Amino acid sequence: MGDMTTDENAVSAGTDRSVGDVCIDVLVIGAGQAGLGTGYWLGKEPGLSFLLVDGAEGVGDSWRRRWDSLQLFTPRRFSSLPGTPMPQGRSEYANKDEIGDYLTAFAAGQGLPVRLGTRVLHVDQDSSGGFIAETTTGSIRARYVVIASGPYSAPFIPAAADGLDPSVVQLHSSAYERPGDLPESHVLVVGAGNSAAQLAVELAASRPVTVAAPGGMWFLPSRLLGLSLYWWLWITRILNGRSGSRVSRTVRARGDGIIGKELLTLVATGRMRIIKERVCSANGNEVELSDGTHVRTEAVLWCTGYQPDYSWLRVSKALDEGGHPIHDNGRSAVPGLHWVGLPWQTRLNSGIIDGVDRDARRAVCRVKAAHARRGDAAASSNRPLRNPKVPDRPTR
Ligand SMILES: Cc1cc2nc3c(=O)[nH]c(=O)nc-3n(C[C@H](O)[C@H](O)[C@H](O)COP(=O)(O)OP(=O)(O)OC[C@H]3O[C@@H](n4cnc5c(N)ncnc54)[C@H](O)[C@@H]3O)c2cc1C
Repeated sequence: MGDMTTDENAVSAGTDRSVGDVCIDVLVIGAGQAGLGTGYWLGKEPGLSFLLVDGAEGVGDSWRRRWDSLQLFTPRRFSSLPGTPMPQGRSEYANKDEIGDYLTAFAAGQGLPVRLGTRVLHVDQDSSGGFIAETTTGSIRARYVVIASGPYSAPFIPAAADGLDPSVVQLHSSAYERPGDLPESHVLVVGAGNSAAQLAVELAASRPVTVAAPGGMWFLPSRLLGLSLYWWLWITRILNGRSGSRVSRTVRARGDGIIGKELLTLVATGRMRIIKERVCSANGNEVELSDGTHVRTEAVLWCTGYQPDYSWLRVSKALDEGGHPIHDNGRSAVPGLHWVGLPWQTRLNSGIIDGVDRDARRAVCRVKAAHARRGDAAASSNRPLRNPKVPDRPTR
């Protein structure tokens, strides 16, 4: 790693648009909540230089890009990163812009070195056991890489979509912003999760809606005895339950519960229909379901989730055959590679803001320990470190 120029500006605190090659200890890919939480703990380690990179133009943009009416389902108390509580607001639940602004303010307040507009094109291992990342703004060599690029990278749309006539308007939930994006005629919402439920309720205010939720939906009250569901999950220790615990395994096997009962009310009053069959194929304006019945529609909103896309990670043994991360509580089998922000990474709340602090701290502890071992090994063999130019920590 010693043959690359160390560019101190590129690791100075604050969001920047520097272009150029750098050599650092830790590269964090993604500056969403998982990356920022990791940056928070890295900032407490004076012996480690680090840089966060993000392909987006602004910190918090992954939240701002979501639909207009999106309000968090976690109360503010459970929507905070370490060291900076989410500010109080009009509602107990922040909206998507508030959380976007909170993350922007967090990065600035913590003085984190974030390089925006920097998409990682590929990451390879180098011959010295570290990593080299090619990005849209230059190469970055790093001893350790933390991947915090989010679990929602590649929207998934079933192949059935191809059979629909071009006159049928189709959108994935990641592209939906507001009801006006779809015609004011019948909409088929496909999906059994919270996105499907929320958007079906929103659309039902202005048009007929059918929800195709394979296997059906199950519902949880958003409040119980005056307290948010999340308080109960916290009090009962389910929220922090280890991924492997019996309770967590039961919750996981059951699939996402729909928080709130607005959709149920619409179904009960005949203003919406839920179908429990899977969408199998489509032809023209008709969608065929697994029981052989058909639904005629003018628009389809696919709330069918995401697939992993780590095609840029060219490190063997990092991913399984399905492209999912291979890890043990966030630690990859590849030395020096770590993950933060994966759903169920260590606990039930790993994939939401509330779980970032613990998982990020753990990743940084591991990096720090590995770095110390490297330092000890270098000292005992009386050889200089291979990259003596690396700055101790970003300039603040
Ligand atoms: C509709 C919806 C509602 C949700 N509501 C809640 C809620 O109420 N409460 C809650 O706690 N959680 C909620 N979540 C879950 C979760 O908290 C969010 O998805 C959150 O955005 C995940 O944060 P992250 O940092 O892991 O990933 P992201 O926010 O997706 O951030 C990842 C970042 O990595 C960057 N990136 C990706 N690939 C690259 C690359 N190759 N090179 C450079 N940069 C890259 C992206 O630009 C992005 O900025 C919700 C999720 C969804 C989809």
